[in-house]
Amino acid sequence: MKTIIIKDLEQFDQATRIIREGGLVAAPTETVYGLCANALNETAVGNIFKAKGRPNDNPLIVHIADLDMLYKLVTEVSPIAQKLIERFWPGPLTLIFKAKSIVPRAVTAGLDTVAVRFPSHPLMQKLIKDSGLPIAAPSANTSGKPSPTNMQRVFEDMDGKIDCIIDGDSSEIGVESTIVDTTGDIATVLRPGGITYEMLEEVLGKIAIDPAITNTLKEGQKPKAPGMKYTHYSPNADVFIIKNSSAYFDVAHHNMFGDLDNLREHLTTLVNEAHEHNKKVGILATDETKHLFDADLVLSAGTESDLQTISAHLFEVLRSFDDNGIDIVYSLAFPKKGLGVAIMNRLEKSAGYHFITI
Ligand code: AMP
Ligand code: MG
Repeated sequence: MKTIIIKDLEQFDQATRIIREGGLVAAPTETVYGLCANALNETAVGNIFKAKGRPNDNPLIVHIADLDMLYKLVTEVSPIAQKLIERFWPGPLTLIFKAKSIVPRAVTAGLDTVAVRFPSHPLMQKLIKDSGLPIAAPSANTSGKPSPTNMQRVFEDMDGKIDCIIDGDSSEIGVESTIVDTTGDIATVLRPGGITYEMLEEVLGKIAIDPAITNTLKEGQKPKAPGMKYTHYSPNADVFIIKNSSAYFDVAHHNMFGDLDNLREHLTTLVNEAHEHNKKVGILATDETKHLFDADLVLSAGTESDLQTISAHLFEVLRSFDDNGIDIVYSLAFPKKGLGVAIMNRLEKSAGYHFITI
């Protein structure tokens, strides 16, 4: 299949036509690039799973561009959902509702609920509005890899497998949407993302957090977001997260990573050990700490004073280590506050929950 690339608005109608005709289009959103198909076309949705190599018991998020579309897909919008919609849509928040039967099984993976998001990105909104269709879209990467946050990474994974890529800017948030289940008495976060716990609490007061996020699932317990059981966001390199037991979150004291001398010493030892085994080593650091470390490749994800710079670059940095043939990545651990929760959730998964505590 020849994948066409759309670089300006004059060609945009081609993308709209492809969606209407049941094809696949990758498009930029504020979270990550999405792999889009008509959500009401079972065959088109099936092709998303094929292009990504995605397990088909992992349901998709349906993207809308007005609330009329929402009412066509769901049976009920609870007061909890209404409050969240008013405050956070359009934006990086996905809500779970009871689904109407119009939503194909391929989208819900057989659940009686459907995940819906109203994205803020103008090109994604245009694709939905111009086609007049709700659009099912997971991230536009090969299943298991770090999500693409720019057009080049989509091209690497999807060239020849999909009809079209819309070339836009790099994703602003860089991690996937926050998912909140609104079907129960209390809003339950199923995946942390761009809308933080603090922001949700400000609107709702109390929220619940699914045990799969905090890694406290008991044996036999299933995550409520089926996708959470799969390997995710993994570069080819083995990732390890360095936890410094002396760290505490206090931006004012610049002690995000604890005693930096201690951290540097331990990392030097780890790098030397890896070199003895002929492994190429990368370190994932910040603008503020990058100069402290020595390895085959030291990359900063962003500045500690603005965690959004780090979420925006995280996946790109993980892919850059692979570009450079790095075998082992040691990553600093970010504080689990605000956007740090989503950053660490993705990083922990990309590391397969491998930690080194110093
Ligand atoms: P992705 O598209 O890869 O960012 O993943 C979408 C996430 O939404 C996955 O973790 C899914 O399991 C989750 N999801 C989609 N639909 C539902 C649903 N009806 N109930 C719970 N989780 C869902
Ligand atoms: Mg994904």
